[in-house]
Amino acid sequence: MYIVQIASECAPVIKAGGLGDVVYGLSRELEERGHCVELILPMYDCMRYDHIWGLHDAYRDLDVPWYGGEIKCDVFCGWVHGRLCFFIQPKSQDQFFNRGYVYGGEDDPMRFAFFSKAAMEFLLKSNKRPDIIHCHDWQTGLVPVMLYEMYQYYGMERQRVCYTIHNFRHQGNCGNDILMATGLNRPEYYFHYDRLQDNFNPFALNLMKGGIVYSNYVNTVSPHHAWEARFTDVGYGLGHTLEIHQGKFSGILNGVDYNLWNPESDSYIPSQYSLNQPQNKAKNKQALRERLLLKDCDKPLIAYIGRLDDQKGVHLVHHAIYYALNRNAQFVLLGSATSGDVNAKFWHEKHFLNDNPDVHLEIGFNEELAHLIYAGADMVVVPSNFEPCGLTQLISLKYGTVPIVRGVGGLLSTVFDRDYDLDHAPEKRNGYVFYQMDNHALESAMERAIGLYYEYPKEFEQLMLQGMEYNYSWKNSASQYLSIYELIRFK
Ligand code: ADP
Repeated sequence: MYIVQIASECAPVIKAGGLGDVVYGLSRELEERGHCVELILPMYDCMRYDHIWGLHDAYRDLDVPWYGGEIKCDVFCGWVHGRLCFFIQPKSQDQFFNRGYVYGGEDDPMRFAFFSKAAMEFLLKSNKRPDIIHCHDWQTGLVPVMLYEMYQYYGMERQRVCYTIHNFRHQGNCGNDILMATGLNRPEYYFHYDRLQDNFNPFALNLMKGGIVYSNYVNTVSPHHAWEARFTDVGYGLGHTLEIHQGKFSGILNGVDYNLWNPESDSYIPSQYSLNQPQNKAKNKQALRERLLLKDCDKPLIAYIGRLDDQKGVHLVHHAIYYALNRNAQFVLLGSATSGDVNAKFWHEKHFLNDNPDVHLEIGFNEELAHLIYAGADMVVVPSNFEPCGLTQLISLKYGTVPIVRGVGGLLSTVFDRDYDLDHAPEKRNGYVFYQMDNHALESAMERAIGLYYEYPKEFEQLMLQGMEYNYSWKNSASQYLSIYELIRFK
């Protein structure tokens, strides 16, 4: 099959979170199975150009119709760790992708509407006719809209779209200028409940809703989150739209790229280890302590790795630090804040705890340190408010680091409580789960984990090994995506 992925991120060249990992990991697995996969991305100035090989011109002066005129684009082509990527660079005063950031502009909907339009023009004019166009999140929600309403009449009538939603919280709400810019026009047609009109604000368009309504298939990134999005508030207002389109909506769990995340071959960690020889994990704990100047002792080491954002339950992350210290454990945090307030709060904590030899807070994004923490920690906390899938717990399991998670979204689909999960036999359980969003709930799960570590070390080790036995690679997930591609291909 010939598959084109249109996305705003692809790890490691441009990654703000799990979306980038998924776009890369899925593409790799599909190619390994013999499918032809190409990626279309914006050409950001802030990309990791050192991860692109053989960058060269693919299409000079691509005319992209825009507001009745046109913007010329150059399209470059290169390989990102083996994946063939096309990068779109508009030549316009707007400097859509030359701003030193990926997201965060007031005109983000316009920037990504342009990207979607340019990607469609590139496919059209370079005569690329993929079987499947796979789009992701609100940034590319207009692709299926334009395909159905315009491009099928220009010769793209056989292309089908699979649309994956990684986070319902950001939906791309905007005004009707987007319709004029892209040439969709006809506001009276699109401002309709059955099309792009936002479910709450009748004067706004919702690009993610467009993606849901117009795609041939829609999925989110775990089965439980698919249910939550339809029936709880984490659908952020799109529950009814998903209800209407339930026949083409499901949840597919993300995979982890075990070529990158594998303690047996990880070059970022000083001592490799595996399920059969887990002893070396202790050496990584020692290395982590040395690197972060933590005291060498027999305490358990608990970690948090992730964005510091409301979604991730920052108040519980904060509480976890103090509870761990109180319960005679060490704590390491690696996180980058998404708002100034949260950033200031954690910098304050960092200064406050500076002289404590049992804790280290590292504020910022550091891929290499993340590997060492996954390998060196005994437990990881993931107290998310909501979590469509979550990669942290999946990576932790592979590294024998016991996850303590809140039972939401993908966390609930992948972590099974050692003491209370009745759906899994004791030898299949792999972590700790709590449900309420308060300190007591978190404490009760942490208490059980720390208690097991101190009082029944053999059983703690057994739990760690049970986690390592789980296989959340892309193999299974990619097969599910392929079944969807097959399903919609000839529709
Ligand atoms: P989300 O996509 O909501 O941010 P996920 O759990 O799906 O969360 O993916 C997070 C990914 O980003 C994981 O690979 C995690 O290790 C990585 N990550 C998050 N924050 C950091 C950080 N500060 N430094 C290094 N890696 C990070």
